[in-house]
Amino acid sequence: MIPFNAPPVVGTEIDYMRSAMSSGKLCGDGGFTRRCQQWMEQRFGCSRALLTPSCTASLEMAALLIDIQPGDEVIMPSYTFVSTANAFVLRGATIVFVDVRPDTMNMDERLIEAAITPQTRAIVPVHYAGVVCEMDAIMALAEKYQLYVIEDAAQAVMSTYKGRAAGSIGHIGCFSFHETKNYTAGGEGGATLINDKALVDRAEIIREKGTNRSQFFRGQVDKYTWRDIGSSYLMADLQAAYLWAQLEQANQINAQRLKLWQRYYDALQPIAASGRIELPALPASAEHNAHMFYIKLHDSDARSELIGWLKEADILAVFHYIPLHSSPAGLRFGRFSGEDRFTTRESERLLRLPLFYNLSDNNQGTVINSLLSYFS
Ligand SMILES: *Cc1c(COP(=O)(O)O)cnc(C)c1O
Repeated sequence: MIPFNAPPVVGTEIDYMRSAMSSGKLCGDGGFTRRCQQWMEQRFGCSRALLTPSCTASLEMAALLIDIQPGDEVIMPSYTFVSTANAFVLRGATIVFVDVRPDTMNMDERLIEAAITPQTRAIVPVHYAGVVCEMDAIMALAEKYQLYVIEDAAQAVMSTYKGRAAGSIGHIGCFSFHETKNYTAGGEGGATLINDKALVDRAEIIREKGTNRSQFFRGQVDKYTWRDIGSSYLMADLQAAYLWAQLEQANQINAQRLKLWQRYYDALQPIAASGRIELPALPASAEHNAHMFYIKLHDSDARSELIGWLKEADILAVFHYIPLHSSPAGLRFGRFSGEDRFTTRESERLLRLPLFYNLSDNNQGTVINSLLSYFS
C-alpha cells in the first residue's frame, strides 16, 4: 500500500528527544523551543516566532491578539480548513467568504475589496499548497481600509513571495507542524509569527495564560501576574526537539519535496497536453515549497473513477476541502460575498497525489505508471 502521507523523519529526531529528556525540562519554552524560535526569526525575518501546540492554536492566538469582537467580520476563502474560520467564530466574528482563483486555488485578491464593509477587521489569506497569495494587493487593501492581515501559512513553511518568507508578510503568520505538513513537531505543532512589533508583548502574554511569565524569565520583571486574557499556547519541549531535527535539515527536506513535485509535473505533462487533466499553476511571484501535488480532473465523477483505479493498485489519493460556506457551520457563521464561480466547482475536481519527504522513488514511479496506464 502506498499511503497518501507519512510523517517526515530525518533520523536525528530520537537523539534530540533523548537530549530533551535528560535536560530535566520537558515543558514549554525550553532549550529546543528557543532554538526553533530563533531559527525561524532569522530565517523568515519576523520580529518574534512563538511555538504553539498547532496552527489552530496560532490562529486562535491571532484572533485574541487583534481583539476580534462579536459582530466583526473576517474575510477568507471558503476553500480552506475549518480552523481558519473557527478561530474567529470563537470570538463571535462573522466569516465573509471570497471565491478562489481557479489557477492557484488561493483567495482571489481582486474580489476582496467588494467584500469589505464597515464591520471588516481582518483578511486571512490561505497559501494553498504552499503557493503564496498575491500579498502586495492584499497588504495594499489592508492599509487602505486599516485591516489586519493574518496569514494562514499552515502549508507554506519555507515558501516565499517576491523573496519574502510566507508568514512574515502580514501582521501575523500562522504555521502548522502537523504530521501532514512539510515539517512536523512529532505529530502536532504550530508557530505564530509576529511581524507587527506592537503585538509582540501581548502575544507572549496571551500565550502564557494571560501572564507576563515570559518577561519574568528574561529577568525584565521581578514577579509575574495575571495581565490579560490568554490561554496555554505552548509546545512541549519534547516536541520542539523533534521539530528542531527537521528545521536543521529544512533545506534538504524542501529540496527533496521539490524534486518529487517536479517529477510528477514532468511525467504528467503529456496527459495534461492531451486535455485529460490540468496541472497546478505556479505564479512567477511565488516560490513554492512543494507542499502538495494535485491534478484536476474534468468533474467529480471523473475524480471518483480515478480514485477507485488507484485504490485497486493500492495507492491512496485523496481530495481536499469541502467548501466551508456550504457546510452546516459555514451557513450559520458566515456568508459568501459575490458569486461562487470556482470554489465549489474546482474543489470537486481536485485530486491530491501521495507526496511526502520519505516517499521512495520506486513508489512514486508506481503512482506515475498507474496514472499513465489509466489515461492511455
Ligand atoms: C493544516 C492546516 C491548518 C491546521 O493546522 P493544525 O496544526 O493541524 O492545527 C490550518 N489551516 C490550513 C490551511 C491547514 O492546511
